[in-house]
Amino acid sequence: MQVIANKTSLREEKKHESTALLEICNLKKSFDVSEGWSSKNKKFLRAVGGINLKVHSGETLGIVGESGCGKSTLGNIIMGLLKPSEGQIIFDGEDLNKIPSKLLRKKRRDLQMVFQDPFSSLNPRMRIFDIIAEPLKTHKIVSGKELENRIYELLNIVGLDSTYAKRYPHEFSGGQRQRVGIARALALNPKMIVCDEPVSALDVSIQSQILNLLNKLKKEYNLTVIFIAHGMPAIKHISDRIAVMYLGKIVELANKEDLFTETMHPYTIGLLSSIPISDPKLRDLKKELVLEGDLPSPVNPPSGCSFRTRCPFATDKCIEEEPALVEKKTGHFVACHLPHLIN
Ligand code: SF4
Repeated sequence: MQVIANKTSLREEKKHESTALLEICNLKKSFDVSEGWSSKNKKFLRAVGGINLKVHSGETLGIVGESGCGKSTLGNIIMGLLKPSEGQIIFDGEDLNKIPSKLLRKKRRDLQMVFQDPFSSLNPRMRIFDIIAEPLKTHKIVSGKELENRIYELLNIVGLDSTYAKRYPHEFSGGQRQRVGIARALALNPKMIVCDEPVSALDVSIQSQILNLLNKLKKEYNLTVIFIAHGMPAIKHISDRIAVMYLGKIVELANKEDLFTETMHPYTIGLLSSIPISDPKLRDLKKELVLEGDLPSPVNPPSGCSFRTRCPFATDKCIEEEPALVEKKTGHFVACHLPHLIN
């Protein structure tokens, strides 16, 4: 549960209240991984372990963490591809788990996704024209000549020539296919897009082109973006605020500058240690921590702080008591018993 530490932070929360496009309240997701039929040996994998988060209109929120930390599960729940075990997703003022299906269908138009692997997310038997036209036809937005013009316009928006509309996905490079994926996500003029590792399958040289395109589109179309990635460089390039996830929970949340210059959680320090910094001033400020060991099993997470099995600062308190996500500085939240020791 997020703890609001002082009056300043309460004011800050109130200021943002009116502009939160998405609010996630105590979201949990567990998967039954029991072997056999006996109810005595039930085992559950905790993918998302109680997340509270607001995403403000017009911002890019980066969600970062190692593979298996639950970030993609969180993205899939937001998109309605998975049902949460508990909790609420309030999008544009409506609880997505409670509204009638007709209204939900309408709301879902405003919430679109860009997938990790552009090749497997595009039907290989469909031409690009039909792939981008699909959501427009399904929602009966436009037809005929208007539909054709909209497809060409969308291709143009993502930097592809309109003649490409006749081609199939296999005729494109990875970067071009991801541009098609973005065009399809934009087709319905959404308010928010969730990008699940959209550049991790691409060559490094192409990654920055796609990140720059997403940044440009965000500004031009006033989009709100959730950008999920396992690596800090892409997250740093694109995010306004960053949430760091570990074993299904947020362990640090701050705006980009604060997260990089006043890092509080040991896990975040470990993630940042792997990034080379060219600016000598920032390099001097950099703290180092080599992350050793693997993510513990989400079927049997450690007691107390989930990160304690890999944390060089762990104490007895860390074994016994789970740290709450507390606002240590306006807008900078951390879940650690000892963040003052680190700074
Ligand atoms: Fe490390 Fe303890 Fe902080 Fe967890 S609560 S990150 S174990 S110091």
